[in-house]
Amino acid sequence: MNRPQQLCVVIPAHNECANVAAMVDRLGAVLDPLALDWTILFVDDGSRDGTSEAVRFQNARDGRVRGLTLSRNFGKEAAMAAGLRQAEGADAVVLMDADLQHPPEVLPAFVAAWRAGAEVVQGHRRPAPGESPRRRAASEAFYAVFRRLSQMPLEAGAVDFVLLDRKAVEALNRMGERTRFTKGLFHWIGFRTEVVPFDVAARAAGQSTFTPRKLLAFAADGIIAFSSLPLRIWSGVGALISGGAILYAIYFALRTLIRGADVPGFPSLIVSITFLSGIQLLSLGVIGEYLSRIYEETKARPLYLIREVIGITRTPVETRQDAA
Ligand code: UDP
Ligand code: MG
Repeated sequence: MNRPQQLCVVIPAHNECANVAAMVDRLGAVLDPLALDWTILFVDDGSRDGTSEAVRFQNARDGRVRGLTLSRNFGKEAAMAAGLRQAEGADAVVLMDADLQHPPEVLPAFVAAWRAGAEVVQGHRRPAPGESPRRRAASEAFYAVFRRLSQMPLEAGAVDFVLLDRKAVEALNRMGERTRFTKGLFHWIGFRTEVVPFDVAARAAGQSTFTPRKLLAFAADGIIAFSSLPLRIWSGVGALISGGAILYAIYFALRTLIRGADVPGFPSLIVSITFLSGIQLLSLGVIGEYLSRIYEETKARPLYLIREVIGITRTPVETRQDAA
């Protein structure tokens, strides 16, 4: 048996109509010399700009370009999960953005590392000069907290630009969780990992849909999906505060015995009441964050729904594999 290796490039795309043709051209030019059986799978994540039509046009020109159209915008994490499940048969799967920020020209290095035995080839973006320093600092801070809480060595440069061996793809496909932080999952699954640094390019066309608010929500998802420490620290905080309160009470009792009672103490009363109510609400809020995600998980709704497929004959895999 000596068939060529099959590589599937999975591209989540939300309103990326203007980038589809350029992606296909540049990917084709890079993949053709690699002696691979390649396919490109665009996952249209509820675009409103005709991204699927652009994919259908490309499919008519080259049957190796295929598409999966989700029924609405489910978010990039769900779109990646959809693509990974659909690409199940391939020997390796590449995940990359549709906006050409992840340069296709890096792929030969990915494939070389994979052929040399790596099972996960992770693209690491080098610090870009034009990047907003605020976003950079926020991202560094997030990864520092993430590393501490999750004990996973995830670097700020780790992005969703990755080549996964079939074994790794199958491992990821077994994860039924809805609160997805795929970058973390790449690490969690283990396997022989190789890092390939690359220079991130400017977005070719269109706009980033990740607003600061969305990024903040995504950061919370990441930490909560990979650490239960925020949930557990409150028993420690509570013990500390109660301990302090007991010492304070003893001090007051002794002081009253020695020096008699005195009325002042109003400010300290207000401060401790407001401080403690704050802490209580905060810890309740943290519990709520976890609880709401547990609720989402127990509903066990599918992660995404498929409206149509372009150039794919096999029935799409939509539901959780292990639940089916
Ligand atoms: N994307 C997606 N669904 C969304 C938002 C984004 O599939 O709801 C895709 C988008 O088309 C792109 C990738 O995810 O291919 C990264 O998005 P973007 O460029 O907006 O993010 P940034 O590069 O700013 O992190
Ligand atoms: Mg981008």
